[in-house]
Amino acid sequence: MAKGIQSIRGFADILPEHLPTWRHVEETARRWLEAYGYAEIRLPALERTELFSRSIGEVTDIVEKEMYTFADRNGDSLTLRPEGTAGCVRAGIQHGLFHNAQPRLWYSGAMFRHERPQKGRFRQFHQIGAEVFGLAGPDVDAEMILMTGRLLASMGLEDVELQINSLGSSEARAAYREQLVAYLAQHEARLDDDSRRRLHSNPLRVLDSKNPALQEIIEAAPRLLDQLDEESERHFAELRAILDAAGLNYRINPRLVRGLDYYGRTVFEWVTDRLGAQGTVLAGGRYDGLVEQIGGRATPAVGFAMGVERIVTLLEESGRQKRAPAPQAYVVVPAGVEAQAHALVESLRDQLPAACLLVNAGGGSFKSQFKRADRSGARLVLVLGEEELAAGRVGVKDLRGDAAQEAVAREDLAEFIRARLD
Ligand code: ATP
Ligand code: MG
Repeated sequence: MAKGIQSIRGFADILPEHLPTWRHVEETARRWLEAYGYAEIRLPALERTELFSRSIGEVTDIVEKEMYTFADRNGDSLTLRPEGTAGCVRAGIQHGLFHNAQPRLWYSGAMFRHERPQKGRFRQFHQIGAEVFGLAGPDVDAEMILMTGRLLASMGLEDVELQINSLGSSEARAAYREQLVAYLAQHEARLDDDSRRRLHSNPLRVLDSKNPALQEIIEAAPRLLDQLDEESERHFAELRAILDAAGLNYRINPRLVRGLDYYGRTVFEWVTDRLGAQGTVLAGGRYDGLVEQIGGRATPAVGFAMGVERIVTLLEESGRQKRAPAPQAYVVVPAGVEAQAHALVESLRDQLPAACLLVNAGGGSFKSQFKRADRSGARLVLVLGEEELAAGRVGVKDLRGDAAQEAVAREDLAEFIRARLD
């Protein structure tokens, strides 16, 4: 391995070969989010620590052990955002965005969690997420879920399953929590350390455990879904009716709870079995209490976030990655004509603003420049030999096919290239 300073564990460089797939994911997301009426918001990466402890919940994994928290030079406790919702809610309250005509917002960016790095799990990772504020009905939840399905499908993701559940009202959850604790306490000896710790701090999270040894206990646990309050029951039924009418397949997973405290009623995840324990590529739900909890006027809300790394990995591993387009032309520049060559290429760029024209740099023999042209993957080679330049022409060689090099008049060059590449 190369010497010198290395990157921090869990903080990955995203190398050029992966960028076309990243951009495909980002651009597809942006296109559909905007088509559903979401407006982009850009949020800071650093926030006051209390924003996250108040919103995500003190007894969640994130707040207990995953946050990058430090005192800045003034002694204020700051945290690199571990997720986007808290900042979005903070911004919405601060700028009064929640009670106007634009209830749909989306964001993207790097998030930071001090987790154990492994496949699909990093310490810096990227999310694209969206939130809708001020609308309490199941229609918004359903529309958001339909949109996420469309998003993932048009990115080219297959083999992802939609799972949905309802976490009911906070009263229903509180009643259920007691039942669950009583049940889990009977099996306490068989729980692992994490689950034993959560038993009293955050028992619903035990249901989310990926430990195979606990699955039997989890399977037999009482189900919140069986004892929803009437309102939540109706909400969930209407949500399902909309998904059914639109023909979207899903599985009801009564064990689906989200890692964050703030969810109630609808929760959903898109899951694959191809990434091991890192199988959730997109997750979301309703969080009607959060805005008030962090100091705003009571405002219902629903949102989701997707993990860009996981989606990119899935696309790459199933052969659906994107490649950078090859340059349209490579320009061979013999020594001594650099000035004329660049002047000519600049005028070509005026006429072909979308074309990638790769101009040879650093000299080299004719032969070595042609080799570079070949390696670049360019379709055409433009040869600006002294003779051609003197005659007001450019040599054009099509690397696809056997046709000999042609001499094209400078004024016809842009049209010639355009015709060749169409
Ligand atoms: P997990 O159960 O996999 O830890 P989570 O419930 O902590 O996920 P959320 O907070 O809901 O995840 O984040 C939404 C999405 O962001 C996840 O579904 C996942 O795709 C992605 N994600 C979360 N944590 C990481 C991470 N450390 N590295 C890469 N992607 C992540
Ligand atoms: Mg997590």
